[in-house]
Amino acid sequence: MAARVFGPVPSRRLGRSLGLDLTPAKTCTYDCRYCQLTATDHPATERQMFFQPAELLDELREKLADIEPPDWITCSGSGEPTLHAGLGSILKGIREFSSAPICVITNGSLLGREDVRTDLCFADRVMPTLCSVHEETWRAIHQPATGIIFKDILQGLQMFGRMYPGILEIEVFICPGLNDTEREIDDLGSFFRQLPGLDAVYLNAAVRNPVDTSLLPASPELLDSIKRRLKLQIPVSTAFDHSPLPKRTESKRSPTGQEILDLLRRHPCTLEQLHRVFGGDLRQLTSVTTRLVESGAAEKRPDGTFAPLSSSSKG
Ligand code: SF4
Repeated sequence: MAARVFGPVPSRRLGRSLGLDLTPAKTCTYDCRYCQLTATDHPATERQMFFQPAELLDELREKLADIEPPDWITCSGSGEPTLHAGLGSILKGIREFSSAPICVITNGSLLGREDVRTDLCFADRVMPTLCSVHEETWRAIHQPATGIIFKDILQGLQMFGRMYPGILEIEVFICPGLNDTEREIDDLGSFFRQLPGLDAVYLNAAVRNPVDTSLLPASPELLDSIKRRLKLQIPVSTAFDHSPLPKRTESKRSPTGQEILDLLRRHPCTLEQLHRVFGGDLRQLTSVTTRLVESGAAEKRPDGTFAPLSSSSKG
């Protein structure tokens, strides 16, 4: 079975972020055109106990004993983390043995559910996605599973914003030709201005191999113009405002091929990113990645990132 704890991941916003994968691959309520994993082959709308929380907590405890403390522990990975019915127990359990702040990256599709909102309150930072306040655009971008109701998401976000004590930061994935019109941005800006508890907005772009290869990445200029047009009083940053390279770990231990593959399955990385998050000897790391490519386990893409060969993309 693939590890449920992976990384640390080189995260633009979270630095060295140790990842927790709460779903089997690729189990999601959405099938986003910009997804950097594979297409969603397990669409889901109901929460499930995919595995017992104690199993993941044991794995996490072991990993934390073996690495430099991460900047964040983050629930994300190869599907939608709020689909795990034990999310609240997992978040509470982490607090019992780790002081690292906890973040949940969610597509927000289940925020209409009270149990999901309650579980998320145990995280220090929650990053839901909202790419449009128009249902037809939302459908075109996310291709949601049958049973996911758009108005429940908007209402759920508002209820969550009112109750959540932590940092609430919404991610907007800008897909040129779909959600970058003046109407889209103006209406999104109005929604954000009225959203209680919103701390920040992040504008993202499909900079790494999206599933839908016809989707063009938004340019830095486009994201900057949208940032201005949103007219928000809270911080708005773009993918290009943050470095893709976190600070270098002091760790002297080189990662194994399996550890690298576990990370690449959820997050393709360059050699420099791998070296920064894992540490160890660069020549040894280079020879492990070369072996992964030569054995057919991974590929090196034209943009310099390594990715597992069995999947077409992710992030
Ligand atoms: S980007 Fe996230 S929400 Fe969208 S399909 Fe991929 S894993 Fe699911």
